[in-house]
Amino acid sequence: MYRVRRWVVRHSRLLEVIYQGFEPLLIKLHPLWKRLGYERIETPVRQVEKAVKGLLFDCQMCGQCVLSSTGMACPMNCPKNLRNGPCGGVRANGHCEVRPEMKCVWVEAWEGSRRMQQGERIHVVQAPVDFRLKDSSSWLRAVRELTHDAAPASRPSRSDGAVNEVR
Ligand code: SF4
Repeated sequence: MYRVRRWVVRHSRLLEVIYQGFEPLLIKLHPLWKRLGYERIETPVRQVEKAVKGLLFDCQMCGQCVLSSTGMACPMNCPKNLRNGPCGGVRANGHCEVRPEMKCVWVEAWEGSRRMQQGERIHVVQAPVDFRLKDSSSWLRAVRELTHDAAPASRPSRSDGAVNEVR
């Protein structure tokens, strides 16, 4: 998986283009999702998302994807789960201080972002991770956000929140 992850970062522009085609399709299907019920489709969509993104990004299903701002390198693979990195412990060779065999996720993020059309988004300061959203679908959250179809405010929902990212 690590090798796939690194391949993805090297081809971050390609992944960006693919997502730019995928997101409008998801949004177009909003009336269908709504008809079926977002709560009902959460589980199957989450499973597909987990399989695809797990394979490509070693996705941990944080539920608030920021891949478009991190050069297609998932920040949840940082042992410190830093959403804004790198920390001060990056080795001189660009590797992680906690897992020295691994290149720092944030070094990867920077390199990936340099290949992307919207790579400047790496400068956006990310909010801390909201662990209430863990194991929820970022894709569905994105659709609801972009169609202004927010989930009930009383629930720390897997489908609400304000993330404006590639998921
Ligand atoms: S949903 Fe979260 S854990 Fe999964 S790839 Fe995106 S940022 Fe990483």
